[in-house]
Amino acid sequence: MISKKVLMTRNSFDELILPVYSPLPFVPVRGKGSRLWDQTGKEYIDFSGGIAVTSLGHCHPVLNKTLKKQSKKLWHLSNVFTNEPALRLAKKLISSSFATRVFFANSGAEANEAAFKLARYYASQTHHAKKNKIISFYNSFHGRTFFTVSVGGQEKYSNNFGPKPLGITHALFNDIDTVKNIIDNDTCAIVVELIQGEGGVIPATISFIEELRELCNKYDALLIFDEIQTGVGRTGKLFSYQHYNIIPDILTLAKSLGGGFPISAMLTTNKIVSIIKPGIHGTTYGGNPLACSVAESVINIIDTKKVLSGVEKKFKEIVYELNIINKRFQLFEEIRGRGLLIGIVLKSHCSNKIHKILNSALLEGVIFLTAGHNVIRLAPSLIINKIDIVEGMQRFYHALEKCYV
Ligand SMILES: *Cc1c(COP(=O)(O)O)cnc(C)c1O
Repeated sequence: MISKKVLMTRNSFDELILPVYSPLPFVPVRGKGSRLWDQTGKEYIDFSGGIAVTSLGHCHPVLNKTLKKQSKKLWHLSNVFTNEPALRLAKKLISSSFATRVFFANSGAEANEAAFKLARYYASQTHHAKKNKIISFYNSFHGRTFFTVSVGGQEKYSNNFGPKPLGITHALFNDIDTVKNIIDNDTCAIVVELIQGEGGVIPATISFIEELRELCNKYDALLIFDEIQTGVGRTGKLFSYQHYNIIPDILTLAKSLGGGFPISAMLTTNKIVSIIKPGIHGTTYGGNPLACSVAESVINIIDTKKVLSGVEKKFKEIVYELNIINKRFQLFEEIRGRGLLIGIVLKSHCSNKIHKILNSALLEGVIFLTAGHNVIRLAPSLIINKIDIVEGMQRFYHALEKCYV
């Protein structure tokens, strides 16, 4: 039988895929570094970075080589076996963090699901079954499984799916008194993002994180850092908690970790893991050799002085360009974030124009994200070069000119 290749377009999405997304009007077919090309050959500069995932840009040659090499050795084994890439990646994560144990999964939500289950299981084994309360924060995002979406602080994502898991309460981010009001001896964990990513690129203050640590110690609760968006170099240190000098009990990673290959990890310590027996949790694909070999290469490249200090430099370059743009257009209330997770907060009079601005940017050939309702989010490759930054910002300037002149 002769198979004929059918041309797929953006319209095909509306016929074929569950409409839980509304993708941009073009279909990218190729990427290199921070540039993307669509089906018509139009080129874009990509500041969306696959939503903070393609940490080394598109099709990094070293990652391509790693993937190709591993694909000729072994793709998948399951948890009936262990494998060398998973062990090497675990060793690497442990040697560069507070952790002494690692669990691998495939997405951010799964890493958080494992973290929340572990926190409750640990409390049930070391205290009692009633110690199951999880405190998280309004506006937070922890994934889309039913447990993680319930822990997340945005009801629009968790309502209308039937009864939610019990024992979850939300406090105000960066407001320690609201935590003090609800924490008690039945609290098993507090989970927090060090920068609320989806919620609008809002960094946690140092004193807030310090006080969360103290409260967790006082009430014998575990402190969980969701570093799925901030981890693996995004903020200029390998892990964002290193800016705070505070150590969590559990830390979750995903996004940047695989540079575009699906993988996530939950990091914790021997003390907490000591109560675990085989069988209490698991996943078929977790620790997949292809994913782990790519992630190992990602960390090898990112965990170097050159790349990590480059992140801070690129932050400054981008903010410099944004300030020039703002001098001309006076649209930005604030530029916030850390490293290459940047939020441009629009002034209230133009926050309803955010989609108009982003569409105009697309026409000029530059891609941004949103976060919250009035924030333009940038999460580009950690090795985006100066030419791409300057040209991308020029395109942004022209896009605003077309919107506002
Ligand atoms: C993206 C994200 C998640 C969810 O990750 P998925 O891979 O989409 O499941 C969880 N927490 C944070 C902070 C995130 O940014």
